[in-house]
Amino acid sequence: MNIEFNLNELKAADRLPSPSGTALAIMQLVQQSDATVQQVSQLVKVDPALSGRILRFANSAAFGARRPIADIQTAVMMMGMQTVRNFALSLSLIGSNSKGHCSEFDYEAYWSRSLAMSVSIAAITAREVTVVPAESFTLGLLSDIGGLALATAWSEIYGECLGMAEGKQLLALERERFAIDHNALSLMLLADWGFPTVFLDALKLSFEMKVAGLTRIDQFARQLILARLIGNYCVADEAHRAMLLPYLTAEADLHALDEPALLAFIDETIELWHEWGKLIDVKTDVRQPLLKAVDTLESDLLGLNLLLVDDDPMMLARLSKQLAAAGNQVAVCRNGESALKYVIEHKPQLVITDWRMKPMDGLALCKALRASVFGKNIYLIMLTSTEDEDALVEAFDAGIDDYVTKPISLRVLLARLRAGQRIITLQNELEKESRDIQRYTAELAAANRRLKSMANTDVLTGLPNRRYALNRLEQEAATALRSNQPLSVLMLDLDYFKSVNDTLGHDVGDQVLIHAANLMRTTARTNDITCRLGGEEFLIIAPNTDGSTALLLAERIRNSIERNQPKGLALRHPVTVSIGVAGAMGAKPSWKELMKRADDALYLVKQGKRNGVRLES
Ligand code: GH3
Ligand code: MG
Ligand code: MG
Repeated sequence: MNIEFNLNELKAADRLPSPSGTALAIMQLVQQSDATVQQVSQLVKVDPALSGRILRFANSAAFGARRPIADIQTAVMMMGMQTVRNFALSLSLIGSNSKGHCSEFDYEAYWSRSLAMSVSIAAITAREVTVVPAESFTLGLLSDIGGLALATAWSEIYGECLGMAEGKQLLALERERFAIDHNALSLMLLADWGFPTVFLDALKLSFEMKVAGLTRIDQFARQLILARLIGNYCVADEAHRAMLLPYLTAEADLHALDEPALLAFIDETIELWHEWGKLIDVKTDVRQPLLKAVDTLESDLLGLNLLLVDDDPMMLARLSKQLAAAGNQVAVCRNGESALKYVIEHKPQLVITDWRMKPMDGLALCKALRASVFGKNIYLIMLTSTEDEDALVEAFDAGIDDYVTKPISLRVLLARLRAGQRIITLQNELEKESRDIQRYTAELAAANRRLKSMANTDVLTGLPNRRYALNRLEQEAATALRSNQPLSVLMLDLDYFKSVNDTLGHDVGDQVLIHAANLMRTTARTNDITCRLGGEEFLIIAPNTDGSTALLLAERIRNSIERNQPKGLALRHPVTVSIGVAGAMGAKPSWKELMKRADDALYLVKQGKRNGVRLES
């Protein structure tokens, strides 16, 4: 099944989650450029539940409230109209979508996880400021709205999808079924609801897990990734929480949160999550299996296949554990020689090597790698305890791509790895491109060969056709002249062939043609070139053969055809052939004249009893 995706159609058909009541009114009001805080506050006050929640929201310590706020107008002013609007929107959506018809979609877990992410992103943005925490809160709450939307619009089919796929597979399946995936749909809906572009750009980056830059959007994207992980962690059961923890630590490391700080941070988030859950009627005692979460994680991780070389076992153990936790496949070697051996055998994508090792040190390893076929493209990072200029120049001359100084900051190392990964990806793309080009070229050459052969081959018998025959004869004539050798041609024509067609039909006629063609080819010698000129007429070029020898060849073929009648055909006349032969020596006759003479000889045979051979006279 394939559905053309059309947001407007779905909206018109009322098949998407949409705000209603006060929220809708607030959204429409805020849309107007001249809307005032007073007007918005008035609308909010109409809805007591909303008013209470907005006050709580504005007073939330996590969002930077310094003194208690008691009235709505101050709250609206503090939060900003856009935030109030988005907050009302979120609450309205939660209210009308706490249940639904998609049996495989866990609505409670969905809102629970969204709220956890939302609380967490607000706390993260309060900690390292990128956007206003209250704004990030509403984005967090709705950042996965596309999933809910698919469950709402196509509850049955989407239920099937959820039952079949998990994680990244799900996205592909969604695209197949709905022409859009839940991430793209989230972005589309949020854009439609007027969320700022910077938010959407960051959210998109966080979905794609492609955060490499240092702009505010990139930073916010990283924060969203961490918040999503924490959200997943909150709703995960104990076993899955344990599975998630290494991913979380690796990500938290990028936010300068070490493990104890991370755990404390998560505890605070969980507490806030419960509080908020009570306030806005979202269950927070939900536990969900983590397949989706873990799968989302995988793509965030570096996923490099790397080799770590160091002679210090403590260092090896610690670093390899950390690098593995960041999602890499890590192999370790204790010295340059075993590293060299490992690289030959396993071709890792990247090597991180210490400098001082015995017997072969890091520098010698790099030189050896660069001198070899398998190591010349590998990405090399050197761990060094010095930033001495001469030493670094020496290291770069030995072929390293990058270096990290000791003591090693995991954060810096991971950042360098990401940079390395970009280069590796580019390199792979280039290699793939060059392989593709090679393949296309080969395919093109093959296709050209096929075309050429098609242009030179008779389809029915598989023999070279008239075009080929004439070209080849001209060539052979030239060769014969150059090498002073004789050249003969045989002109063959089946006898009474028309009657085969007339009595048994064209198909049987074709069979007879194939049969005769095969006999000609197999009876002729390897150097003879048997061609079909057209109809039931054939030409055999006999290089280095004089007329009288060619006549013997002709007789052999005539005889073979007469004696090997095709089986199972009720032919009126047996299949026979008449053959005219002509030979040349030197410049005369020309190849055209040679053919004409053979044709003349053939004509004479046809004048007689047919089924015979004749040499030109
Ligand atoms: P003759 O002994 O004088 O050579 O008599 P013929 O009937 O063999 O000669 P003619 O040239 O009068 O007839 C050739 C026939 O070959 C005419 C045409 O119907 C048939 N023919 C030409 N090309 C094909 C083909 O590709 N398949 C079939 N089945 N028949 C063909
Ligand atoms: Mg004929
Ligand atoms: Mg004919």
